[in-house]
Amino acid sequence: RKTVAIIGSGIAGIATAIRLAAKGFRVTIFEANSSPGGKLSEFELEGYRFDAGPSLFTMPHFVEELFLIAGKNPADYIAYGKLPVICEYFYEDGTHIRAYSDPEKFAEEIEQKTGQSKKSVLSYLKQSAFKYEVTANLFLKRSLHKLSTWLNLDAIRGYWNLPKLDVFQTLNEVNERHFQDPRIVQLFNRYATYNGSNPYETPGIMHIIPHLEYNVGAFFPAKGMYNITQSLVRLAEDMGVLFCYNTRINEIVVLNNKAVGVRPNKIDGRPAPTYESFDVVVSNMDIVNTYRKLLPHVAAPTRILEQPKSSSALIFYWGITRSFFELDLHNIFFSKDYQHEFDCLFHKQTISNDPTIYINITSKYKPDDAPSGCENWFTMINVPNNSGQDWDGLIDEARRNIILKLSRILKTDISKLIACEYIQDPRTIEARTSSSQGALYGISSNNRYAAFLRHDNKSSKVKNLYFVGGSVHPGGGIPLSLLSAKIAAGMVKDPV
Ligand code: FAD
Repeated sequence: RKTVAIIGSGIAGIATAIRLAAKGFRVTIFEANSSPGGKLSEFELEGYRFDAGPSLFTMPHFVEELFLIAGKNPADYIAYGKLPVICEYFYEDGTHIRAYSDPEKFAEEIEQKTGQSKKSVLSYLKQSAFKYEVTANLFLKRSLHKLSTWLNLDAIRGYWNLPKLDVFQTLNEVNERHFQDPRIVQLFNRYATYNGSNPYETPGIMHIIPHLEYNVGAFFPAKGMYNITQSLVRLAEDMGVLFCYNTRINEIVVLNNKAVGVRPNKIDGRPAPTYESFDVVVSNMDIVNTYRKLLPHVAAPTRILEQPKSSSALIFYWGITRSFFELDLHNIFFSKDYQHEFDCLFHKQTISNDPTIYINITSKYKPDDAPSGCENWFTMINVPNNSGQDWDGLIDEARRNIILKLSRILKTDISKLIACEYIQDPRTIEARTSSSQGALYGISSNNRYAAFLRHDNKSSKVKNLYFVGGSVHPGGGIPLSLLSAKIAAGMVKDPV
C-alpha cells in the first residue's frame, strides 16, 4: 500500500488522515506534542476542565461526513446538540440581548430591546444565506488554483451576482447600511472576529458568517469541544492510522523535486533515523513555518508568507467559585468604542483599555467541568498577533481592565471569585501549535483579495506535497480547516 506522512494532528491533519485512509493509503501522523488536537485541545486545573481553544462549533456536518465516508455511524463516536441560545450580549449602557437561535425569536428580542425592526434583522439573515449559497461552493469548497473552479456553473452564478455580494464595501459599511441602531451594527460587526479580521476593513462578503449561526445553527458536543478531536482520533485509529506523539518533524525530505519522506527528531524516544520514507507528505504545520523550518531548500512564496496575519487571543482560564444565572455558554461584553478597539488591534498592535470580552462557560452544559456551584470561565479578548510586544505588561493591564468591566456589569467583585488561573497569550499559542505569530486563523481577511493570497493545498514546486489547516486555503476555524483536508485529499491521486 502507498504511504502518507502527515505532519501535525490538528483537526485538518486528522481529517486528512481519515480521508486518505478511506482511499486506501497507509497513514502515519507525526505530532510534536504529547497529545492530539493542536489548538483544539483541553486541560484540567484544580478540578475545573477547560477546552483550550475553539469554543464555538458550527457546521457539524463537516465532522459527520468523516464518519460517513469511513462507513461508520457518527452517533457511535460523538454526541452533540443544537443550542437554543447562541449568545448573551451585554452592553455598557445596560442593554442585554439574548441571541436566540430561532431567527424569529432573535429578531423579536432585538426589536423589543433596541427598537431596531424585526423585519430588518430577518432580511439581513436572509441576505446572509443568499450570499453564502452563491459563494461557498466557489471560494470554500474548491482549490482556487484550478481553471475548472472558474469555469463552472457555480462560478457563473457568482459573476452574475457580484454586485449583490458587497465585495467592494466593508462589513461595517454593509451593517450601517442595514441597521440604524449602533448596538446592532456592533453585534453584526463582531462576526469579522470569527476569522480574526477587522470589521472596518474586511469586505462585506463576511456578511455570510451570521448565516452559519442563525440559519444552520451553533452546536455543543455533550463531552465538550475536545471530544471533536477525541472522536476523530478514535475513528482514525479504527481505520489503522498510526499516531506518533512527541515526534517533531524537522525537515520534509525532497529529492528531484519530489517529497520522499520526513526527518523526525525521534520516534518514541529512539534516536532519529536518517529519514522515514513516504509516497506522499502532508503538512498540517502552519504554512509560514512549513517553508521556513521544514523546506529550507525550496524557494518560498514570499508574498503569500508575508501577508498580515489574523488577530490572536489572550485567554484567562478562571475557576470561579459561584454561578451566574444571567450567563450562558457564550457571553459577550461589548466595548464602548468598537472602532477604537480594532484600531488598537490592527494598526497600533496593542490592546485597547476597554476590550470586548468573551466568556465561554462549558459547565453550563456539562456540569462536571466545574465543582458543584462553581463555573469554568474561559475569558478571552482579541489581541494583536505577536510582533514582540511587551506581553507581560499588556497582560497585567488587560487583566485589571477585564476584572473592572466584568465586576461593573455583573455587579459583583469578580477578583474575589477567582479560585485558580491559567493564562494563554500569542506567545504560548505560537509555542504550542507552531502558529506563525500566534495568529488564530492564518492570514487576516482585511484585504478583499485575501482569499487569493492564501496558499494552495498543493505544492506547485514539489511533487507529492500537500498543505492543510487554518493557515492555507480556504482559511481558519474548524469548518474551513476541515474543508482544507477535503480539498487536499481530493487532489491526492488514488494509491493504485
Ligand atoms: P492546529 O490546531 O494549528 O494544529 C497543528 C498541529 O501540528 C499542532 O498539534 C502542532 O503541535 C503540530 N505541529 C506543528 N509543527 C509540527 C512539526 N514540525 N512536527 C510535528 N507536529 C507539528 N475555530 C472555530 O471554528 N471556532 C472557535 O470558536 C475558535 N476559537 C478559537 C479560539 C482560540 C483561543 C484558538 C487558538 C483558535 C480558535 N479557533 C476557532 C480556530 C481553530 O482552533 C483553528 O482554526 C483550527 O483548530 C486549526 O486547526 P489546524 O488543523 O490548522 O491545526
